[in-house]
Amino acid sequence: MIGPLASGMCPSGDSRVIVIDDDEIMLLSCKEILGRIGYTVETFASGEEGLKHIARSPAALLVVDLKMPQIDGLEVIRRVREIDPAMVIIVITGYSTISTAVQAMKAGAYDFLPKPFTPEELVLIVNRGYERWRLAMQSARLRDEKEHLQRVFVTFVSHQLKTPLVAVKQYLDVLMHDSQIELPQRARQWISRSQYRVAELTGIIDDWLDLSRAEHGGLCDRKVSTDLQEVIEGVVKSLGPLAKEAGVRLTLEFAPTPLSVIGDRGSLEMVLSNLISNGIKYNRSGGSLIVRTSLDDSTVVLEVADTGLGIPEACQERLFEEFYRVKTDATAEIPGSGLGLTLCQTIVEELEGKISVHSEEGVGTTFTVRLLPGTRVQ
Ligand code: ADP
Repeated sequence: MIGPLASGMCPSGDSRVIVIDDDEIMLLSCKEILGRIGYTVETFASGEEGLKHIARSPAALLVVDLKMPQIDGLEVIRRVREIDPAMVIIVITGYSTISTAVQAMKAGAYDFLPKPFTPEELVLIVNRGYERWRLAMQSARLRDEKEHLQRVFVTFVSHQLKTPLVAVKQYLDVLMHDSQIELPQRARQWISRSQYRVAELTGIIDDWLDLSRAEHGGLCDRKVSTDLQEVIEGVVKSLGPLAKEAGVRLTLEFAPTPLSVIGDRGSLEMVLSNLISNGIKYNRSGGSLIVRTSLDDSTVVLEVADTGLGIPEACQERLFEEFYRVKTDATAEIPGSGLGLTLCQTIVEELEGKISVHSEEGVGTTFTVRLLPGTRVQ
């Protein structure tokens, strides 16, 4: 079986191959053939021994015979998948057991090599498996790096942007309020507009930071249960002046029994303040906004319903996309980042809930959030 060796690529990185076979000759052959092209080959005569070793030190590749006494190849594959799902597994099988080889592939083996095989065939298949492992490692590394960079980027940029913005805000506040500085009315107007723009930009950066934290799973706590009514009352209290200023009547309609939900106060506050402030922002003077809670089967339902501008049907399916804002004459002057609803959806889904919207242009909009009940639901 052993013949002249096919020229193979040289492995790099973790180039260990584990071979498990009860046939001593096969182990020696694999060691010799693969060792010659740069692999470090570790051989084991039984599934048990091989598995013990893999549990301690998984490798890039496993070459395993399907037919072995005691723990057979299929069982080895199953257990290796539990230990290290990334390990590439190649099975060796006799001609008579092709159907078992198919079974092995279904169980998670990457390829199979029917006996008898030439050294060239072994090298080819092992090199192919190794390349697959290398690419899988590379893409996992790139994915991790990308996530890390995203996190660092958002934090860095937002810090770099916020620091000068805070300074600009302070200068403007001083200009506006220092009694020793006399400003013409026109200058006051410009300063006031600048203050407004600075606040708008600060809001966008804050939304962006919250979203980044929510997307990376560092925001929500699913292990706690929170009184929803209390959270709503807190948010409504802080947004009350905004509603008053906009001429929007804010009403609360709570379920007869207090409802608590799975989720931390901070995340729930973010969802509520985004939905309620939208219900005020995209409303009209004289309009109304109702925040309602109820229990449906065992799901807690929160509705934020306004009689505002409504959303054109064509825009509704993109509402939860990052930075998406509806552009109509009515909304053109309303400030925002287009991140609030993305943040709401990310948080709600993180809490294993659902958010949906029903809206009619010119009539109003209702956002419905369905959340898991917390421990105190009666
Ligand atoms: P923004 O910061 O722009 O308000 P959001 O993600 O919260 O960002 O909302 C996305 C867009 O959805 C808004 O720009 C607005 O056009 C629309 N929208 C959200 N809530 C309402 C609402 N209650 N009534 C009408 N339009 C809304």
